[in-house]
Amino acid sequence: MIRAIYPGSFDPVSNGHLDIIRRAAEKVDELIVAVLQNRNKNGSLFTVEERLDQLRLVTRDLPNVTVDCFEGLLVDFAKQRDVQVIIRGLRAVTDFESEFQMALTNRSLSPHLETFFIPTSVEYLYLSSSTIKEVASFGGNICGMVPKELEPALLEKFKK
Ligand code: ADP
Repeated sequence: MIRAIYPGSFDPVSNGHLDIIRRAAEKVDELIVAVLQNRNKNGSLFTVEERLDQLRLVTRDLPNVTVDCFEGLLVDFAKQRDVQVIIRGLRAVTDFESEFQMALTNRSLSPHLETFFIPTSVEYLYLSSSTIKEVASFGGNICGMVPKELEPALLEKFKK
C-alpha cells in the first residue's frame, strides 16, 4: 500500500494544485494533502483553517484523499503518518532546482522517503498562487485559475 503526501502552501488552492491532487490520487492508495503551517510566514492571504476547508471542498469527490496541516519538518510529519512518498508538482525548469534540493534534503533526513514529481498539465504551466493573488488584487479575471467554488472567497478577500 502506498500512502503519499502532497505538501504545499495552497494560498489559495489553484486548478494546477487540484490537477496534481487528482492525478496523484489515481496512482496511490492514500493521499494526504498537507498545508504547511509556517510560524514565520504571516503574509498569507487565507488562514490555515480556510485553506483546509477549501481543500476539503474541492477534493470531496476523491475518497482516498484526506486534508491536514503540519508544522515543522515534513519528514517528521511523514514519519508520524507512515507516509512513503512525497508528491510535488513541477511547472518549469525554474521549479526544478529548488524542488531537487528539497527532495535530496528530505531523502538525506529520511532515506526511505521518496519524492515523486508530477509534471504540470500544460494549461496550468503558468499558474502559481502568487500570480493568482496578484490578478485578483487588481480585479482581473481569475476564471479557470482556481476551482469555481473558490472564486467568491478569493474575490471577497480583495474587496476589503
Ligand atoms: P505555489 O508555488 O503556487 O505557491 P505551493 O507552494 O502551494 O504553490 O506548491 C505546492 C506544490 O504544488 C509544489 O510542488 C508546486 O510546484 C506545485 N504546483 C503549484 N502550482 C502548480 C501548477 N500550476 N502545476 C503543477 N504543480 C504546481
